[in-house]
Amino acid sequence: MTRAELRRFVGSSTGAMLVDLEQLVGIETPSDDRPALAAGADWVQEWIERRLGPPTTSRREPGGPHGDTLVLTYAGTGGGASAGPVCLLGHYDTVWPLGTLGSMPFARDGDVLRGPGVFDMKAGLVQAVWAVRALAETGSACPPVRFVLNGDEEIGSPASRRHIEEQCRDAAAVLVFEPSAGGAVKTARKGIGMFDVSLTGIEAHAGLDPGVGASAISALAELVQAAHGLTDLGAGTTVNVGVVSGGSRSNVTAGAAQAGIDVRVATSAEAARIDGALQAWRPSDPRVGVRVDGGWPRPPMTRSAAIGALFERAAGLASELGFDLGETSVGGASDGNFAAALGRPVLDGFGAVGDGAHSRHEQATVSGLVQRTELAAVLLAALAADGSASTDAR
Ligand SMILES: [Zn+2]
Repeated sequence: MTRAELRRFVGSSTGAMLVDLEQLVGIETPSDDRPALAAGADWVQEWIERRLGPPTTSRREPGGPHGDTLVLTYAGTGGGASAGPVCLLGHYDTVWPLGTLGSMPFARDGDVLRGPGVFDMKAGLVQAVWAVRALAETGSACPPVRFVLNGDEEIGSPASRRHIEEQCRDAAAVLVFEPSAGGAVKTARKGIGMFDVSLTGIEAHAGLDPGVGASAISALAELVQAAHGLTDLGAGTTVNVGVVSGGSRSNVTAGAAQAGIDVRVATSAEAARIDGALQAWRPSDPRVGVRVDGGWPRPPMTRSAAIGALFERAAGLASELGFDLGETSVGGASDGNFAAALGRPVLDGFGAVGDGAHSRHEQATVSGLVQRTELAAVLLAALAADGSASTDAR
């Protein structure tokens, strides 16, 4: 193939891509509606097989009360096998409840597309599928690709996390088709820690036996100060005690108190520091017992050398296609965090160009749909060339 042929194919396929996107948006998939998610996953699987042919391997990991995770592998052509597959990560669930289409239907107005989930991240799914199709239809080299598509991302991927980790472990690269940030891809995301601290004191009559009791609430006050003191804005770390409770009556020395703590970190070193500090913390009254539960639902995605190199490569290809690809770091987490924590090169926010995720002005652009499909296709072709012994795969 030549790059011009590839671009011609994507350009001439825009209408079909928009049909796919309209149908995908037309199937509502709220994260908390199991029957709707099942229907959505059925459609997505059938659609991918229709566009790309039968996969080499296909699995559907049950999500229990949540959406299932689809894992569809295509063997690829022209090398890449030695370097492991390229994982194409995405989610088909949205934050929008059933019936949203009634007041917020799929619509196109010039370059702007609207509809629930169009930006986060159904346009990204269309881009990923059509990038692979473009390579196949133009006879271009494509590395082995593995679609990993979950239906519980918007609620923190409780069922799919282990499948994502298992499927990304051997990946040569991971492209996450979450929406871009103003066109920029995301090369760093903060990690999220969630902790519950339970304090156990000794109850006593606060007036009659003041020295007998050990106050869990007094200890809680110390904990709040200590936890907030762990914040280090320069290092990108915030610690917030957002929920507290405790005690039974005002004339009883509190026998129990609890705190809920949200932590955001930019590096795993900071995660370890906060972990260690919370586990080691003790109140001034040694009679108060401390129990710390929780951990890191999302590890930080740090811009590693491998992530930086993958970004530079994508940016170089983007400039050959005629546009600047920016990069950014964001406070929110995604499934890209899991893959990055495994040491894989990850580009997140590789999906739609647009605005307004999770809001009623959610929108994606047609021009971005075409541009990013082309970029994904040429990046995949370049990754295929990595894994082949000769250079003729280009
Ligand atoms: Zn998303």
